[in-house]
Amino acid sequence: MSESATKSESGEKASNFIRSIIDADNHSGKHQGRVHMRFPPEPNGYLHIGHAKSICLNFGLAREYGGLCNLRFDDTNPSKEELRYVDSMIEDIRWLGFDWGDRLFFASDYFARLYELARQMVEDGLAYVDSLSAAEMRDYRGTLKEPGRNSPHRDRSVAENLDLLGRMKAGEFDEGAHVLRAKIDMAAPNINMRDPVMYRILHAEHHRTGNDWHIYPTYDWTHGQSDSFEGVTHSLCTLEFEDHRPLYEWFLDAAKLPHRPQQIEFARLNLDYTITSKRKLRQLVEEGLVDGWDDPRMPTISGMRRRGIPPAAIRDFCERVGVAKRDGKVDVSMLEFSIRSELNKQAPRVLAVLKPLRVVIENYPEGQTEEFDAVNNPEDASAGTRKVPFSRVLYIERDDFMEEPPRKFFRLGPGREVRLKYAYYITCKEVVKNEAGEIVELRCSYDPESRGGNTPDGRKVRGTIHWVSAEHALTCDVKLYDRLFSVPRPESAQDGKTFLDYLNPESLKLLEGCKLEPGLASASPGSSWQFERLGYFCVDADATDDGTPVFNRTITLRDTWAKIQQTGK
Ligand code: ATP
Ligand code: MG
Repeated sequence: MSESATKSESGEKASNFIRSIIDADNHSGKHQGRVHMRFPPEPNGYLHIGHAKSICLNFGLAREYGGLCNLRFDDTNPSKEELRYVDSMIEDIRWLGFDWGDRLFFASDYFARLYELARQMVEDGLAYVDSLSAAEMRDYRGTLKEPGRNSPHRDRSVAENLDLLGRMKAGEFDEGAHVLRAKIDMAAPNINMRDPVMYRILHAEHHRTGNDWHIYPTYDWTHGQSDSFEGVTHSLCTLEFEDHRPLYEWFLDAAKLPHRPQQIEFARLNLDYTITSKRKLRQLVEEGLVDGWDDPRMPTISGMRRRGIPPAAIRDFCERVGVAKRDGKVDVSMLEFSIRSELNKQAPRVLAVLKPLRVVIENYPEGQTEEFDAVNNPEDASAGTRKVPFSRVLYIERDDFMEEPPRKFFRLGPGREVRLKYAYYITCKEVVKNEAGEIVELRCSYDPESRGGNTPDGRKVRGTIHWVSAEHALTCDVKLYDRLFSVPRPESAQDGKTFLDYLNPESLKLLEGCKLEPGLASASPGSSWQFERLGYFCVDADATDDGTPVFNRTITLRDTWAKIQQTGK
């Protein structure tokens, strides 16, 4: 990440090489000071965190410079693309907080215009119909070391080319029978310039143009022209297109388009413990290894939304990562840091017990209930307080009790006293076990003088634990999500393994019968909460059949993985 720019301490946006290019262009008046970006996804899957990076960059720069950013679907391959992917992408980009006004475009909107330009290129002697088979074309293309050879069809007459092209379009030929190629240079050192294909025959139904077309334009032929049609000034793409830039330029020249956009490449975002390839993510979905594209473990935008990650955390992360000119891996703990900081600001605190242990306070009057004021968010005084009910029977976290506590365990144990957050001090008098020897209940006493955590005699209690009143508790299922992969680079699998061999078997644990403070019964789907001492949780989009909410763990309060890696446990 040496070349990347990061957010400065003051929160101001640091410079990066793309901002420098735009500043220089604005200074020289290259585009009359206009800044017009676009985000061009192919609707062949769901958007993921890598796309989020590109979205934040394109829409973010447009916003910053008072410019525009279009959303353009690169829908040139009907065999892989679907309408439902278009819909999901629109929803995801909106949710991330960006807007394209009335500038929603589809490359397929330009099919007729592109075809006319291609015909013009044929007339200008800059394109021809080739009829080699795919294997022959590969053979004629040459290699990195050897130049390619001209196809025997390269010198067809303009009339013959126009005739064949028209018939390709009309659907007269089988797939693979002909292609339209740009006539550039079969000996060019850059293989992309060796007469690249502009159109191939495809008898597929397109989700927008139906069966109107039997030929479809390639990405290279479509992209720059679409940028030009839309008046795009800076066309950002990832580094693998660097070698395509001469072709991008060549097509703009050949098509004689008046407006010239500029292609600029930046490094893809690669995150450790994460896969960012639509193809591999689709494999996880299709093989049933996750519960759909929006499974909360998926690095898709919809998965992250369902997991409870706020859009502001994703935007913050993308800004912190900056833009680099060379590929590298970003530590996933950086994303987790942004998630925790954002949720810390936003999420109200509540009391929730995930693994309940019953506690009976023997000297507390039966049938009595009282309410304590609990702070909603210590980070935000305006969030105020709420009432939580207290009664004779409570639940505490199983992990907060140990029958034989080690030296540094300051929570509850036989004969020990702890503070119940917001409530009283309690002392454990007796441990009740079932026939199997498992602890099923603690019998405790409380000190009525310790209400609200004070003691008149000033005695100190080291542990403070959370609790929920049994009679009032809301009983819920909670899903504990964790990283989907257990190794940092799942896609560089070796020894005959694939990324699928590195799925983290602990990535989802279902906890049933969790006890939550009663106010959470009305928590709305998607809302985020901090369960005190446990982590951040959000209400899943789907409730159980009886309407009880289900909670997803977004993230723990601390980075537990850093410790695991250090100790090797
Ligand atoms: P995938 O391999 O996941 O399908 P893609 O690049 O083929 O990715 P597109 O739909 O073509 O997917 O991408 C739309 C835009 O998002 C492109 O401009 C692309 O460069 C950008 N993009 C895709 N993945 C990343 C990534 N990991 N980091 C940054 N930008 C990305
Ligand atoms: Mg692509």
